[in-house]
Amino acid sequence: MHIETIAIHAGNHIDESSKAVIQPIVMSTTFERGPDGEYPSGFIYGRAGNPNRALLENVLAKLELGEEAAAFSSGNAAGMAVFQSLKPGTHIIAPDDMYHGLRNQLKTLFAGILWFDFVDQSNPEMVQQAIKPHTGLLWIETPSNPLLKLSNITGLVKIAHENNIKVVVDNTFATPICQLPLTLGADLVMHSTTKYFGGHSDITGGVLITPVKDDWWARIRQVQEMGGAIPAPIDCYMLTRSIKTLPYRMRGHVNNAQLFAEFLENHAKVGQVMYPGLPSHPQHQLAKLQMLAFGGMLSFTVKGGADEARKVVNTVKIFTQATSLGGVESLIEHRASVEGPDTKTPKNLLRVSVGLEHIDDLIEDMSAALAAI
Ligand SMILES: *Cc1c(COP(=O)(O)O)cnc(C)c1O
Repeated sequence: MHIETIAIHAGNHIDESSKAVIQPIVMSTTFERGPDGEYPSGFIYGRAGNPNRALLENVLAKLELGEEAAAFSSGNAAGMAVFQSLKPGTHIIAPDDMYHGLRNQLKTLFAGILWFDFVDQSNPEMVQQAIKPHTGLLWIETPSNPLLKLSNITGLVKIAHENNIKVVVDNTFATPICQLPLTLGADLVMHSTTKYFGGHSDITGGVLITPVKDDWWARIRQVQEMGGAIPAPIDCYMLTRSIKTLPYRMRGHVNNAQLFAEFLENHAKVGQVMYPGLPSHPQHQLAKLQMLAFGGMLSFTVKGGADEARKVVNTVKIFTQATSLGGVESLIEHRASVEGPDTKTPKNLLRVSVGLEHIDDLIEDMSAALAAI
């Protein structure tokens, strides 16, 4: 089946008792046992499992061409489940521009429990050099945030597997519409479903997807069930609903982002534009090999400094100045001020989550803001 069909059907089934075409929301936290004490529906208790979560996990697994998915209450909870599944003392190699929330989680909550190095993974040599005898996990995020750097998933998987290291890919920026890491050899895919899967900036969630139900996956399921960082039934329902339009939404994001990147690249007040779909992107060839489409995220530098960049975000009218990404509405953000004083992000860099408004309106709005600086 094609991805559009999976997105619509794999998260839904007709309810047997009511014949409702759309899955009902099951709020019950407990499920009746049979005369023999068994669980005829397969559900026992809300933390362990719920019909809406089961449907959500089914569609998420199928979209990433995986075997099974585990849904969490946030992207950070999904990432944390991976870290909690590792033996204490494990060494992790993570990207130097890892999503700052997970980087902070490692540095704050796992200090003294796990070991980690943050390296530039666009250079496989750096990854090779960072490997230690107790390295157990390579965490990849591509395209990266906010510089849209790419890491060669196939190449890095080869290095990792030669050294018995598991590979997790945070596929939040790309989504399965633009990149399928499991087909490139990754051992696990992670998403913040808060972003494109939710798509309307009104659900917080996360997911892990595995290609095999091995011992590691059983451990992750234990973290999900015993840790309890599970999404509520209503959130599972809403996500499943949003996912039905994901392939079409992504197509719109990708088309708008490409046109917006080309507009910016030709603008006199813009310095560099970072978008994997531009031939000027230093890894455009890799993007064409590894990605199915180039995504909806881009960054650019405004000529001048932080003041000029701030002026742009304060002048635009259609773009909202806010963090996060993946919603139907376009967002713009001055990253350096979000990331704090130790950030290496250029002070004149703006990150854009290109939304689904008409591209002409977005370009007109940005033209006016750039003209004002
Ligand atoms: C947002 C995000 C996360 C964290 O997800 P939450 O849902 O906010 O917990 C992780 N990785 C990436 C790339 C993200 O954009």
